[in-house]
Amino acid sequence: MIAPLLEAGLPALGVEPPAGAVARLEEYARLLLEKNQVMNLTAITEPQQVARLHVLDCAALLGVYALEGKRLLDVGTGAGFPGVVLKILVPSLDVTLLDSLNKRLDWLEETCGALGLAGIRTLHGRAEEHSRGDAFREQFDVVTSRAVAELRTLSELCLPYVRPGGAFLAMKSVDSDEELSAAGGAIAALGGRLREKRDYRIPGTDVRHRVIVIEKISETPKKYPRSFAKIKKNPL
Ligand code: SAM
Repeated sequence: MIAPLLEAGLPALGVEPPAGAVARLEEYARLLLEKNQVMNLTAITEPQQVARLHVLDCAALLGVYALEGKRLLDVGTGAGFPGVVLKILVPSLDVTLLDSLNKRLDWLEETCGALGLAGIRTLHGRAEEHSRGDAFREQFDVVTSRAVAELRTLSELCLPYVRPGGAFLAMKSVDSDEELSAAGGAIAALGGRLREKRDYRIPGTDVRHRVIVIEKISETPKKYPRSFAKIKKNPL
C-alpha cells in the first residue's frame, strides 16, 4: 500500500495529483514489481522504495518545469521513468516513450493500456537514429532523460528532438557539476543553453537529486547527431 506515501510526498514536491492519479500510480508500481519477477525492469524491489526512488523522484520534475499540454519525449525510458509517472500526473501531456529495448516497450504498451492512459505511445529504436528524420526532429516541447548516459553524450542524443523554445530536462545526481561543465561545449554546439540546475530532496528520504534544465535557443546543426560509435569515441 503506497498510496499514503504518495499522498504525503507529492504535495511536498509542489504537485497536486489529479483525481485517480494516486490509484493509477499505485497500480503501475504493482504491475512493475509483478513483471520484474520475470523481466529485468528495475533493481528496486520493495514497494515503498519504488514509490520514493522512482515515482516521487520522477514527480519532482513537475516542481521544476510546467508540463501541461506539452508534447514530451522520454529518451531511454526503460520501465517508463519518468514518462509514465508524468503522464499519470499531467493527463494533458502527450508522451512518447523511446527505448532501444523492445521487450520493455511491449510491457509498457500493455501497462499503459491496463492503466487506461490515452495520449501516450512507445517508439522503438536508438535515440541517435530517430532524430535524423523529419518525423521526430525538433518536434517536441520537452525531452526528458533519466539514468541513460553522461550529459555530454546525452545532449547529442536528446537536444536534436527539442524544438527551439523548448527544453531538455536531464535528471542527474547532485554530484553532476563536473559532468555539467564538461558538457558545456556540446550543449552550445547542439543549440542549447543551460537555464538552471535545481536540486531537490526526495520526500521521506535523505536522497538529493538534480534536474538540469537546458533550453533550446537555436536549431541543431544537421550534422548532429552522429553515429553512436562516433559520439562515444569522440564526445562533443
Ligand atoms: N529512464 C529509466 C529509469 O530512470 O529507470 C531507465 C534507465 S536504464 C538504466 C537506461 C535505458 O536507456 C535502458 O532501457 C536502455 O535500453 C536505454 N538506452 C540506452 N541508450 C539508448 C539509446 N541510445 N537509445 C535508446 N535507448 C537507449
